[in-house]
Amino acid sequence: MKIKLLDGSINEYNKSMTIKEIAVDLSTSLGKTVIAGKVDGLLVPSDFIVEKDAQVEIVVNKSELIEEIVNATAGFLTMVAINKIDRNAINAEISYKKNDMEFNATFFADPRWKLDQIESLQNVVNQLMDKNKIAYKAIDGKILDQEFSQNKYFLELGKEYIAKNGIAFCYELDGVKVVTDQVILLDLSFIKAIELQQLTGSYWKDSAKNEMLQRVHGLAATGKKILEEKKAMIEERKSNDHREINKRLKLFGFDPLIGAGLPLWLPNGVIIKDEIRKFINEKRWEYDYLKVTTPVIGTVDLYKTSGHWAHYKTDMFQPFKAGNDEEFILRPMNCPHHIAVFRQEPHTYKELPMRICEDAFQHRYESSGSLTGLERVRAMEITDTHIFVRPDQLAAEFKSIYKMVKEILDTFHIEIDYLSFSVRDPLDKEKFFDDDKIWNEAEAQLEAVLKDMGVEYKRMVGEAAFYGPKFDIQIRTVQNHEITVATIQLDFVQPLKFDVTYIDADQSLKRPIMIHCAQIGTYERFIATLLEQHKGALPLWLSPNQVEIIAVGGPESEAYAEDVKNMLRKQYIRARVDARDERLAWKIREAQIHKIPYQLVLGPNEVKNNSVNYRQYGGEELIEISKNDFLNKVLQEIKLKK
Ligand SMILES: [Zn+2]
Repeated sequence: MKIKLLDGSINEYNKSMTIKEIAVDLSTSLGKTVIAGKVDGLLVPSDFIVEKDAQVEIVVNKSELIEEIVNATAGFLTMVAINKIDRNAINAEISYKKNDMEFNATFFADPRWKLDQIESLQNVVNQLMDKNKIAYKAIDGKILDQEFSQNKYFLELGKEYIAKNGIAFCYELDGVKVVTDQVILLDLSFIKAIELQQLTGSYWKDSAKNEMLQRVHGLAATGKKILEEKKAMIEERKSNDHREINKRLKLFGFDPLIGAGLPLWLPNGVIIKDEIRKFINEKRWEYDYLKVTTPVIGTVDLYKTSGHWAHYKTDMFQPFKAGNDEEFILRPMNCPHHIAVFRQEPHTYKELPMRICEDAFQHRYESSGSLTGLERVRAMEITDTHIFVRPDQLAAEFKSIYKMVKEILDTFHIEIDYLSFSVRDPLDKEKFFDDDKIWNEAEAQLEAVLKDMGVEYKRMVGEAAFYGPKFDIQIRTVQNHEITVATIQLDFVQPLKFDVTYIDADQSLKRPIMIHCAQIGTYERFIATLLEQHKGALPLWLSPNQVEIIAVGGPESEAYAEDVKNMLRKQYIRARVDARDERLAWKIREAQIHKIPYQLVLGPNEVKNNSVNYRQYGGEELIEISKNDFLNKVLQEIKLKK
């Protein structure tokens, strides 16, 4: 049998070899560090037997794959421990969630396990880690049926794995057998730390249609120190989650009686929203956008014409009746409304590009399980724009939109993960408007513009909107979710469906191209992003409370504090006196916790000098300057949006 290695060399063997044996044959050090292998691209355990010609890669303990292998091993040991404690429990699935850095072992037990059983489970897992060898064999459909007829979960998963990879893996320790497609360490000396964290209910295959099982969540690592680092990272992520930050800043809330995913914006949140809105409106002015406002509902016919009804129905709220027979929809998108604005009167070629924009409310029916704070909601306000251009203006307009979006995101110091260019899946005739000629043209045009601009992007097949290709700016949340922060989309379809036209130079009617653009997406998602990326310490111009004033040393200081506050507020600086009956140190700490950019401490000395003593958020020093200098400093900083 011929084994082709990664470097292109070929080794010949006259018998079957395991991955481990091949590694030992190659070198002593490979033999000592091998943890798995890849055979013709498939990841396999170290005792996997190679029987015929193949391309083989030796996976060693320094490989990036160690993470998933160690976590799968921890999942396996947890399953063995579950069966050692409860012989009748039926193990189901091992999984590893890379984003959450955790492994899961899902099982069925009757009676159901209680949370306090985690401790004894942990003890058994610890003992198992001291064992040294796990038995492995590859199984096919026949062995699966013979040996696992009592475990419907392994039967179902095993069949799926065999259909996909030709085999499933079976591991055994202390008489407990587990079927999985995950590769685990057969030599347990590579795994040094497993910490079980949580026991929850969990649907089989994560689908609410299926039966409810139980799931152990845990962390695993090759060393105790690495595990501690992981825990610290998870804690850090948790404290920077926008929902956690909101507990201190009180920007938004929810109420079950209003409904899940329907955010209430509280006074502090509205201040942030309004500041952003002001800035976006200035940019719109600069780039010659026309502001309109349109209703949050539209007739069912409107969305049938636009195509949303056919392509987007499951993401929309159901239609509702008004009066006897009129049917309306809470709008999921605003494009048809803006088309209706454009169609109010005829336009000539000289009026294009026409840029119609609105901070528009829209509603989408997201599944209740996916709702996440402000990141995923059912009611949202979007900075929406629909631009009608002549074909010859498309490239220049796209560049100009991208420039505007970049300037906006840069002002907010948003860290972009990557840019994506989404095209249709030509084979999917259901999701995408079916007209190959229109699609090919649209995709080619947009791609040519991107190439011309020299931006780097990922090309995503099948991710386009139903009406055309799109260009998205992607970021990563602290929970490691990938979300779209801004989007620019081409649309050749809706102008056609609504028969949108302009009068060309030769007096003939021509079809404009429509570009959809949401410069910062929705306020909800954008503010969630801002909070997380700034860890709650927003820049001065966005802070709901910009200056917190603390008076010390009696009524004279208190009166002076009021004067300073009024002076600042006259210039629209959001200043407040903390008049609570608490000690100075407590008030200073409070202002830090609430991430207020400036704290002023005013006492008899400041009254005498007509000055202020300020401390910047995160700083230690108190600095004394004149009252007017402070005012000008703050005004300047707000203006520069630092
Ligand atoms: Zn649109």
